[in-house]
Amino acid sequence: MEGPNKRVKVSDLASSNSVIVKTSWTQLYESILKPIESDEDAMEKIALECFSINLSLSPEDLVKLKGLIHATRLKYNDVMYHSFKHGLHVLVNCAKILYEHQKYIDDIDNTNNKFTQCQIYATIFAALIHDIEHLGVFNSTLISNRHELAILYNDQSVAEMRSLNIGLNYLYDFDILNNLSENELKDFRKLVIDLVLSTDIVDPIRYNTIHLFEFKIIYVFYRSLYYNNNTEKKSNTGSLMTILKLSDVGSSTQDKNSAFTWTQRFYHEQYAAHKNYNQSRFDLSIVFTIILHFYLEIYYFYRNGIEKFYTYQVEYLEQHVYDLVLKIRDLAVDNFISLEFADEIFLNLNNNIDVWKSNGGELCENWKKQLL
Ligand SMILES: [Zn+2]
Repeated sequence: MEGPNKRVKVSDLASSNSVIVKTSWTQLYESILKPIESDEDAMEKIALECFSINLSLSPEDLVKLKGLIHATRLKYNDVMYHSFKHGLHVLVNCAKILYEHQKYIDDIDNTNNKFTQCQIYATIFAALIHDIEHLGVFNSTLISNRHELAILYNDQSVAEMRSLNIGLNYLYDFDILNNLSENELKDFRKLVIDLVLSTDIVDPIRYNTIHLFEFKIIYVFYRSLYYNNNTEKKSNTGSLMTILKLSDVGSSTQDKNSAFTWTQRFYHEQYAAHKNYNQSRFDLSIVFTIILHFYLEIYYFYRNGIEKFYTYQVEYLEQHVYDLVLKIRDLAVDNFISLEFADEIFLNLNNNIDVWKSNGGELCENWKKQLL
């Protein structure tokens, strides 16, 4: 990689023939990833493209990355949802947003908001490794079952700690980043750790369970007040966390078939987890701490468990994903990406919420029948 803070224009990157660059956000999974899901070489090739369209890499860097990607693929478990297919999907989503960011910055010729090459590298790397060795069960289940990983990582973001532990070692095993200074490497590691831990959605993100129309207006109002006064709003780490977290749930903001495919996989994974682990009830009935989150850090209430997968999914889309999509729009307002790109994500989510509300119940019934 060239100097990590050197300015690189997207026109200088290996992006002209990239399918990721040419394909819309909406179609990333349906057009690029779905057709190659049984072709491991093709999947690894796309993974490499995620790096090369965003970073200025030497042929030697690319060879090292190829080895790292291959090793990473082998380390993902063959579970229904958190497999390498998911890791790759998140990686492609993340690479797409970062490419759109770099392109937008070039177009408007404003480098003030630009992420550095080092930050972009760390974020793409974090996306690649973020669910390595995921067991397909919630952290809370691992903790309540006193799983050996929960004991090893002291009940703290167990799955994410595991992925980090393996992924960070690959930095040295494959001699990636050997041209960084000690301080730059320290920053790189710190960012990767912060980013991967931020994908633990139960601990750091506060779900809320109210979805009244009136509430949403209050929520948006408070949020804008807070945001306008928040001096940290331009923190690059915070923005990169938003990008990775939105990428992690990206299927629900893309084509409706992508959304259904991944929801069904999650449903199946939870079913398997219920059978294999001592989960108290099916339908995501782990003890979720669901807390109202206003960015003012006022916590309202929590409740235990959610009765149905269908209901859970509505709340997940309307609160967790919706909140991330609003943050992506904030990035557009702050001139990190174009408003058109942010709106594509926003509109798709709204469509998918409508489609899930009208068809999700029936789909859940069908999926259940398939499994019984
Ligand atoms: Zn994930």
